[in-house]
Amino acid sequence: MKKIICSDLGGPESCEVEIKGNTPDEVAKNCQEHVMEEIGKGDSDHQDSVENMQSMSPEEQQEKFAEYMKICEDAFKRD
Ligand SMILES: [Zn+2]
Repeated sequence: MKKIICSDLGGPESCEVEIKGNTPDEVAKNCQEHVMEEIGKGDSDHQDSVENMQSMSPEEQQEKFAEYMKICEDAFKRD
């Protein structure tokens, strides 16, 4: 079980919630769920992160997503 912190994957700097998962895809998916959950609770920091992402061009969004997937994959290679 690997863990990554929310802010590593584009979440707000202040968020240190650990995102867990057994595969890089699972971590990415769990991170998205965590962000949606926080927004559901009315957390404006997570809302801002999503809005920031949505304000990017589709190419930039894809680049960011690839970057986060790489962070997930690297975490799995660490040990
Ligand atoms: Zn978070």
